Amino acid sequence: MTQKTEILSLFPEELRDLLQERGIAGYRAGQIYAWFYRGIRSFEEMTDLPRDLRSRLDADFTIESFREEACVASRLDETRKYLFTLSDGEYVESVLLSYKHGYSVCLSTQAGCRMGCRFCASTGAGFSRNLRPSEILEQIAAITRERRREDPSFRVSHVVLMGIGEPLDNYENVLRFLKLVNRKEGFGISFRNISLSTCGLVPRIRDLAKEDLPVTLSVSLHAPNDALRDSMMPVNKRYPLEELIPACRDYTRKTGRRISFEYALIHGVNDTDRCAGELIALLSGWMNHVNLIPVNETDETAYHAGTRKELLAFQSKLERGGLNATIRRTLGADIAAACGQLRRKKGTEKG
Ligand code: SF4
Repeated sequence: MTQKTEILSLFPEELRDLLQERGIAGYRAGQIYAWFYRGIRSFEEMTDLPRDLRSRLDADFTIESFREEACVASRLDETRKYLFTLSDGEYVESVLLSYKHGYSVCLSTQAGCRMGCRFCASTGAGFSRNLRPSEILEQIAAITRERRREDPSFRVSHVVLMGIGEPLDNYENVLRFLKLVNRKEGFGISFRNISLSTCGLVPRIRDLAKEDLPVTLSVSLHAPNDALRDSMMPVNKRYPLEELIPACRDYTRKTGRRISFEYALIHGVNDTDRCAGELIALLSGWMNHVNLIPVNETDETAYHAGTRKELLAFQSKLERGGLNATIRRTLGADIAAACGQLRRKKGTEKG
């Protein structure tokens, strides 16, 4: 049996070429694309296409479509956390966040993660597979469909690749997703409104710098020295700070974009005066920004966040040392918006 082509992972011109190879007029690609972005997920519903064409498309192509397994809405703000079932029964999580500048979605790039960061719930449920470009895109489409039932003008303006998975461990598919989501025939989201988060896969950071896409790179740093970072993030043994930091500096030089370093403050572990001093030494004198986050206290780790006062004290130490440091606003605090927790729960239920 020949495998059907998954249509949402294609660029419009690739779809046009495949249609033309089958003797179908190229302009049909535009019509099909327009239906996708109006939320239609079956060829049968594309009523401006001739009926026999719809059957031919159905025989040769598939359209990615998720089932919404769960949606948890915060009572404190507009944050919503979604759990979707993929066509093979895998689960992914996505989060919708509301800001003054518009709606942002935090997307997953893999079903699970193999990076093993000690503070993260995503890694505990294991790694199943990479997501296809269409499966990353469909998270935005599924959220848009759900929200438009209440607000027909709903539109996602920002994308953060910070959900389940390490985006640069699924490099080719993520790169294609970035180019697809930016297309004017699709969601038309500007590269400047996209952030990609990595735990520090140095060769891929260098590859991404060569792509010349002005996306913001956000690096999960969490420790200012190798001994501590090794104990929290196994990736550091492979790519220690002496390789990671120069790759980040080169990314900044090449793209002109400042890097954002994520630093989850863990009480008594990485919030000491010594850590503040080391962080200042590591990041002073070049274009970057430190984003401080109270660590997510999950059931799986023994890490604890400090008090608000301790968080502010750490921030002011960094600022006195000349760094640009902010504290990330916590949204959806009542629904534990940290990634991986719904998927992990579902995995336990499947048992
Ligand atoms: S923090 Fe990111 S890279 Fe690390 S285990 Fe979790 S999902 Fe993977």
